[in-house]
Order: sequence, then structure tokens, then C-alpha cells
Amino acid sequence: MDDKEILEKALEFHGHRCWASVAGVRVGLAALEKLGIKRSGGTQLYGIVEIGEEHGGMCFGDGVQYATGCTFGKGNIRKNPLGKLGFTLIEKDTNRAVRVVFTSTLQKQIAASKFMQQRAAGISPDEIPLEDQMELVELVWNAPKEEVLKIGEVFEYPGKWIPEVMGFKPCDRCGELTALAYLRVDGTQHVCIPCSGYDR
Ligand SMILES: [Zn+2]
Ligand SMILES: [Zn+2]
Repeated sequence: MDDKEILEKALEFHGHRCWASVAGVRVGLAALEKLGIKRSGGTQLYGIVEIGEEHGGMCFGDGVQYATGCTFGKGNIRKNPLGKLGFTLIEKDTNRAVRVVFTSTLQKQIAASKFMQQRAAGISPDEIPLEDQMELVELVWNAPKEEVLKIGEVFEYPGKWIPEVMGFKPCDRCGELTALAYLRVDGTQHVCIPCSGYDR
């Protein structure tokens, strides 16, 4: 897949076209490029994304996930919720890492765009006309890398990687399939957390 294809598929996955998801794709691709590696469908890479909860621009997280293949479903990305458009990508085999940030350069242009004016008026992003969505996509996608991205130096991440515990077993009480690491021992039974009465 070339970069444009990754962008298109990322936006399709995301559900609408917005500046923050495009920023995420650019940041993810720049991190891969800096480490000299490719997007991975496995779990060789690990990401740390700095968006928080309930603020604008969280769509950034979908962009970095799609661009790098580090996804919350696979568990090879986590949030360090700082409310920033920052992302650290780590190659687990070598612990080589880089942090990339989307800068403030375009913020005025983004705020003045037809897309954001409609967002401010309470219109849902997927109800904004496609051409207004695309105007903002093009703005963020085509801006020079050195202006919109701050790309750090490669550093060594102090990673201690815990291997996955494979396998599921039905809870002895409710019968629901539960990952082995989440079963608790209660007398002679192996039970899920809600059935065990424990908090975790
Ligand atoms: Zn979005
Ligand atoms: Zn149970």
C-alpha cells in the first residue's frame, strides 16, 4: 500500500474525513519512516498515543492506529492521556523508538475551515458536505512535513515486554468464555472476575 492508499483506507475505517485523523496518519507514517520500518499486521510494533478522553481531535488515535497497525484490539497500543497529538512508536525487537508530534502550525487555518465552522455549529462530522471534508483533508495531508510534524531523534525505549497468555476457558460458574489470565481460583473452581466477587 502506498501512503495515499493508507490515508484513504484509514478515513474509510474512521467513518468521516477530518483533520485529526489525517494528522494521525501523517504522524504514524513519519514514525515508521524515521525508524526505517513498515506498517505491521502483527504485534512487532508498540505504540503510545497521547490523546486523552472527551476532547476534540481524538480522531488522531484512529489515524495512528491505521497507519502503523498498532491497534487497541491487538493490544499493541496504549494511551498516555496527556491531551496531546503526540505518538511514540517502538520496535519491540530492538526497543528503538521515536516520538512524533503534530504541531500547532495549521491550527488557525483548521479553525477557520468550513468543516470546523460547521462542527462549531453542532453539525456532526459525517453530515458535513464531502467537499468541505476534503478541503480540510487536503490542507493537512499536503502541508510540508517539516512545518506540521516535530519528529524526535531515535531513542532506546526501556521496554520489558510480557508475553501474551494464550487460550480461553469457560468460567465454571456462568459458562462464559474467559481468557486464562482473567480466570480466578475460588476453591476448586476457576471462575471469571464477576463470578469471583473480586475487583480484578
Ligand atoms: Zn474524525
Ligand atoms: Zn463467570
